[in-house]
Amino acid sequence: MRRSVVHYTLERCIRCMKCVKACPTSALSMDNDRVVIDQQRCINCGRCIMSCHNRGILAQGSTLEDIENYEYTVCLVPGALISHCASLEEAQDLFHAIRMLGFDEVVDITEYTALHLKEVQLMAGENTGDPYIASFCPVITRLVQTSHKSLLDSLLPIKFCSEIAAKDIRRKYPDKHIGIFNLCECESKLEYAKYPYGNPQYEVDHALALTDIFPMIRKNMHKGYDPVSFCKEGLQVCNPQRIIRRDDYLIADGYDKVSTVLDMAEFGLLNEFRLLILYPCFNGCIGGHMLWGNSFLVANNIDALTSQSSKKAADLPFDEIYTDEFSRTDDDSRSFLERTRFFRAVNEEFERLPGYDCSACGMQTCRVMAEEIVKGNRTEDDCRVLKALKEKNE
Ligand code: SF4
Ligand code: SF4
Ligand code: SF4
Repeated sequence: MRRSVVHYTLERCIRCMKCVKACPTSALSMDNDRVVIDQQRCINCGRCIMSCHNRGILAQGSTLEDIENYEYTVCLVPGALISHCASLEEAQDLFHAIRMLGFDEVVDITEYTALHLKEVQLMAGENTGDPYIASFCPVITRLVQTSHKSLLDSLLPIKFCSEIAAKDIRRKYPDKHIGIFNLCECESKLEYAKYPYGNPQYEVDHALALTDIFPMIRKNMHKGYDPVSFCKEGLQVCNPQRIIRRDDYLIADGYDKVSTVLDMAEFGLLNEFRLLILYPCFNGCIGGHMLWGNSFLVANNIDALTSQSSKKAADLPFDEIYTDEFSRTDDDSRSFLERTRFFRAVNEEFERLPGYDCSACGMQTCRVMAEEIVKGNRTEDDCRVLKALKEKNE
């Protein structure tokens, strides 16, 4: 089962319900004065974290202490973080600072991102049917798996970049007990480093939240320079304005737009496109929640850095790039009939509720409450409004 990387701290919570209201998949509710996370519904988008000003909800990654458990350690650095450097020298400084945290090697993954992009383009070029959906971001994969299942076959079955990178790196050190750490710029990447396909068959050992270790990286800055080179196409993937554009590609960023695009794709309204490239974060991965820069300015850094990039896309065999795990969902084993029966019951229950979406019951909306009642987790008496109306009429 996939898991949420979001964690709740009761002591910090003032029960304001902001996180419950912010969640796009209704994965949060308030029960017995504490926030409850529905693991099945959570897509690790991080909106709840952004909405909580009390740090009651945080994404949890590994710690640097885990380095001690390995003979040789490698840190994977995403293009979105590299893009926060205004020059090659700054990037060399950053890589040195990261290595000083205790890693034996620091690897930029833009060559693997570029390989992913190359495969996406290749597949899109051969597409004559419904548009394919690029799988750069785990939030998109998860959204399709949970809320747009009819698009599952359109999701390109290409592994996430850090997974491809980790496999390639691991192969270079066959005799070493190697630990691979993914430095994550957003909550969703924490998920794919920790539970990429909902099973333990993955190559990345640990996911580090950038917010946790950035203070330590800062302390190590301006103490040395490591040689670094990037792959232009891989860096450009981090921003929807920089990634390769074509008339038959639809590129959208920001959760609401992405959600609309997926709805339209489900209704067959985007069939003039061969490929959908979707970024749940505004301005793409450089707008990741754990990054600090103004994403418009950071996008300019990509131009500066790519003018000095020298690496080509990685070249790996098919089996190292593709996976058949995306089309599998373990979330819902109910038959079509059972699901239809459930939705009918929810609709009927929903009709009996007031429809105020006030969240006084702890649920985000009346519809979520109706689902919980049908599942047997709540009763109509838990609706405060219904209860008040009943008491008034008695
Ligand atoms: S946003 Fe959620 S976790 Fe944060 S204080 Fe409010 S209810 Fe608690
Ligand atoms: S990470 Fe996103 S989907 Fe998961 S609980 Fe938070 S807001 Fe909801
Ligand atoms: S009207 Fe009732 S069921 Fe709907 S959100 Fe408010 S308390 Fe919950």
